[in-house]
Amino acid sequence: MSMKPMNAPVPTARPRGTELVEAVFQVCHDAVVFTDSSGRVQWCNRPFERLTGYRRAELTGRPLDCLYGEQEEFGVTHRLSGPRMIGSDHRVITSYLRRDGSLIEAETSGWTFLARDGAILGHIRILEDRTAVNRLVRVKDKLFDIATDQATSPGEKIEAMISLACEFLHMPVGLVGLFRDASLLVLHARSTLAPIPVGTLFPLEESDCRIALAGDVPFETHGTEAAQDHPLLPEIGLRTYVGVPLVVGGERIGTLSFLNPLSRPGFTIAERQLISDFARFAAQQLAQERQIAALERAATQDWLTGAGSSRQFRRDLENVFRTVRRNNAQASLILIDIDHFKSINDDYGHDMGDRVLADVARRLEAVIGANRRLYRVGGEEFAVILPGTCADSAAIMAEQMRQRLAEAPDPVSDMPALTASFGVAELDPDITSQDAWVKCADIALYASKNNGRNQVTSNGSIAGVALPDEIWREVQKKHSKTRRQSLAI
Ligand code: GH3
Ligand code: MG
Ligand code: MG
Repeated sequence: MSMKPMNAPVPTARPRGTELVEAVFQVCHDAVVFTDSSGRVQWCNRPFERLTGYRRAELTGRPLDCLYGEQEEFGVTHRLSGPRMIGSDHRVITSYLRRDGSLIEAETSGWTFLARDGAILGHIRILEDRTAVNRLVRVKDKLFDIATDQATSPGEKIEAMISLACEFLHMPVGLVGLFRDASLLVLHARSTLAPIPVGTLFPLEESDCRIALAGDVPFETHGTEAAQDHPLLPEIGLRTYVGVPLVVGGERIGTLSFLNPLSRPGFTIAERQLISDFARFAAQQLAQERQIAALERAATQDWLTGAGSSRQFRRDLENVFRTVRRNNAQASLILIDIDHFKSINDDYGHDMGDRVLADVARRLEAVIGANRRLYRVGGEEFAVILPGTCADSAAIMAEQMRQRLAEAPDPVSDMPALTASFGVAELDPDITSQDAWVKCADIALYASKNNGRNQVTSNGSIAGVALPDEIWREVQKKHSKTRRQSLAI
């Protein structure tokens, strides 16, 4: 920033009142300047010299407006200097240009100094430096805006906070890292130096983050000599570091850290306080992210087996049904029901029943592969949706699953032997809804049960299956209930 040119001081006789102003304000802690009625400096105290960087002798006789960041601001404070003392509500924040060219913000109040006879002797201004305080208030306001922005996710909020912190602290690199074994995994990063990809893993041992993770207050280092090697700043090196642990639910899960290849003076108390606030903010967002993920899991995943939930099954089935209908494509559905599962509970206990369910899910998933999802749609009932698959191919997969479950259990395991029955339904053109599709697969499943269990029936062959009347009635009853339930969701 360039300095404004200054006119040479105009030598003046010490005007009336200067001695009195000097006597009153000599020991004042705030910066005070006294100008004559045309705005030329007559006197200033030591705090004013410190604030502006000028010596009193350099300023005396010069117009005060050359110290203002904006010319209009001089006009504003000059208007404050009315004939009466100005109350605190008439204080204004103005920017001043220091001798070194930097701008400062000061809260300015002023009034006119009158002689006993009422003649104007000059104007007094008192300046209170607000630069650091205002900067702090502004950054806290911005953090509040980030926290309350309804349109951003917790991850986006953390990234916005890191950028804000980097700018405020004059640090080019900021990151949130999560503790993984003996390493730190970069979860969010901002760097104006070398790019730091999210997912980078670096050994904790080689970094100051190890010490920061163990502390309770920000840990900082300021190397003034050779830069230290740092895995995230290869070929650049590190001179300044500050980091603080991220505590979620009482557990130290990682660190918020800032790095700088340049050395800088130690962080102020206010800056250290703010770094702790930033870390609390990040920890809160991470906790919220965890809660959202847990809720999503609860809604889409069965807690016992890890298979898709029945709610997710309904959603996915609806999507597949719509897509198939739109594109005139193929799809099949397999329903699986463990045979005589009640007797497993009765013979081995409910806990073993639970373990068996989890084990069955693992075995079924091994057959369907990683690209397809298994759903738990009832107590001991599972389902697989197969887009692009005809009844025959689906029946082949169902047969593989049947064989896998019917295999004798590992002799060293305590798992009981079991079998399951399967119903396969291809989405025929005459199936008009997803409920009708499920009903069709269920009829095939009932046919498998009715024919002696441990077998696969598909709707490709259902027309020839004669189900006893009481089983038809059961199917009708079950599906009128399912329909009511699914409409109620
Ligand atoms: P079927 O061959 O006709 O299917 O006979 P089944 O015994 O398997 O069928 P039924 O519907 O009579 O019994 C299912 C049993 O599954 C009853 C219930 O206690 C049990 N069950 C349901 N959910 C769970 C669960 O989460 N854990 C355990 N351990 N058992 C469950
Ligand atoms: Mg059942
Ligand atoms: Mg059963």
